[in-house]
Amino acid sequence: MLRNISMWICVFMLFIVPAAIAQESGESQEPAPNQVLITNVNIFDGFSPKLAMNQSVLIEGNHIVEVGPDISAEGARVIDGAGRTMTPGLIDMHSHVTFMTPEGTNTFTYEWDFGGSGALAAQALRDDYLMKGITSARDIAGNSRGIATAIQRNLLIGPRLYTSGGVLSHTGGHGDWGAKNDAEPNDYGVLIQQSYIVDGREDVIRAARRNIRGGADFIKVMAGGGVSSFFDPIEILGATKEELEAAVEITNDYGTYVAIHAYHDKSYNRGLDAGVRSFEHGFLVSEDTVKRMAKMQKNGAEIVWSFQCFMSVNSFGDYDSMPDFFTHEQKIKGVKVGKGARNAAKLMKKHGVFTIGGADMFGIPFKDMIKEDITCNVEAGYTPAEALKHWTGNAGIVLKWSGPLDPYPTYAIGTIKPDAYADMLLWDGNPLEDINLILDESKLSLIMKDGVIYKNTMQ
Ligand SMILES: [Zn+2]
Repeated sequence: MLRNISMWICVFMLFIVPAAIAQESGESQEPAPNQVLITNVNIFDGFSPKLAMNQSVLIEGNHIVEVGPDISAEGARVIDGAGRTMTPGLIDMHSHVTFMTPEGTNTFTYEWDFGGSGALAAQALRDDYLMKGITSARDIAGNSRGIATAIQRNLLIGPRLYTSGGVLSHTGGHGDWGAKNDAEPNDYGVLIQQSYIVDGREDVIRAARRNIRGGADFIKVMAGGGVSSFFDPIEILGATKEELEAAVEITNDYGTYVAIHAYHDKSYNRGLDAGVRSFEHGFLVSEDTVKRMAKMQKNGAEIVWSFQCFMSVNSFGDYDSMPDFFTHEQKIKGVKVGKGARNAAKLMKKHGVFTIGGADMFGIPFKDMIKEDITCNVEAGYTPAEALKHWTGNAGIVLKWSGPLDPYPTYAIGTIKPDAYADMLLWDGNPLEDINLILDESKLSLIMKDGVIYKNTMQ
C-alpha cells in the first residue's frame, strides 16, 4: 500500500514539477495563451441602458482582456456572434441551494438528510443555474460552504457560489427549524450548520467567527419575522440591536458584511443603525425608511436593497399561488408580504436606492423558473436594463463586498470589460427590448463561465 502511494507521488511530481519550474524561471516554453475572440456582438455591459453596437471581445484564459470595435488576435479561436446581444452571466443574489427538495425550507423535517439535499443542490446548480445562464449566485442561509468549494475547484459544474454558510437566528427566529417542544436548539438543521441559534452578543460572535472559519464569505442574520417559518409572526423583531452590532463588528474585522432578513420599518432601521449593508425583502417598509436608505447612500454608506420579486409579487400574490409545502399560517403571512412588495419596489425606484435582484426561489416547485425573477422586476416597474443591472452589474459590486473573504478576488464579476471574469451570455435577440426572451432557452446561444464554454448552439 505504502509503495503504491509513493509510486503515485512520483508520477505526480513527474508531471507537476517541470511546469512549476518553467513558470518560476520565466522560460518561454509555455504554449501561446488560450484566447477566444467573440466578434460582431452588441454588448450590455451590466450597467449602461444602451447597447454598445458591433463590438468584439477578446478572452484570455478565464478573463476578458479587450473590448472594442476592431480587435485582431492571431491564433485566437474566433466565434462570430452574428449580431447577437452579449450580456454578463446572470447573478442570483438570493439563493438557498441546500433546500432544493420538494419540501423547500421544511427539507430536513421530513425525509431528507444533508447528503440528499446536497445531491439535489448539485444537479440544480448545473441544470437550473449554470445551464440557464446564471453564472454566479449568492447563497444566503444554508451550509453550502462545501458545495461552493467543490465548484471553485472544478469538482462540480455550477455557478460561482458566494455563501453565507449557516444563518444566525435567535431562538424561535426565521432560522430556527426545530420542533416546537425541543428543549435545546439541537435539531438536524443546527447539527449540520444550516443555522446557528444565537441569543446574545457572545453567541453571535462565536457563531460568526465559526462560520467564517468554515468558509462563509459574509454573514446573514435573521432580523425579523418570516413567511416560511413557524414561530415568528412577520411583525416581530429578530436579532436585538446588540446582536446585530456584534455581527457587524465581526464582519468589519474580517472586511466583509452583514445581510439581514427583514420586512418592516423597525427591523430595517435597527439594521441601518447597526451598520448592516445588505437588506433583503423589505416589502413592508414605509417611504420614510426608504428615504433614509437613499440618504445614507448619498452620505457614502454603501447599502443595498435586495429585491426578491417573484416570490413576493407573483408567488405571494394570493393565497392559492403559494407553494404547496406552505402551511395555512405560512400562506396567510405570504399574502401580507405580497401586497407590500409592489409598493416597496415603487418607493425604492423613486428614491434611487441601490438595488440587486435575488430570486429566493428554491425547492422543486421553483428551481427551474428562477429567471422569472428578472422578468418580474419589469412587471414591478423597472426597465429591462434596470432589471438586468440588478442581476449583473450591481450584483457584481455587492459580491465584492466580501473583501478579503472574496473567493474570486482577481477580477470583476457581472460586467463586460477588460479585467472582468469571462462570464458571459449571447442572446439571439435583444433582451433590453423584449425581456421575456431570457426565459426562452432556445434564444440563449452561448454560455461562458470562467472562460469555459458550457453551451454553444452557433457551431
Ligand atoms: Zn431567503
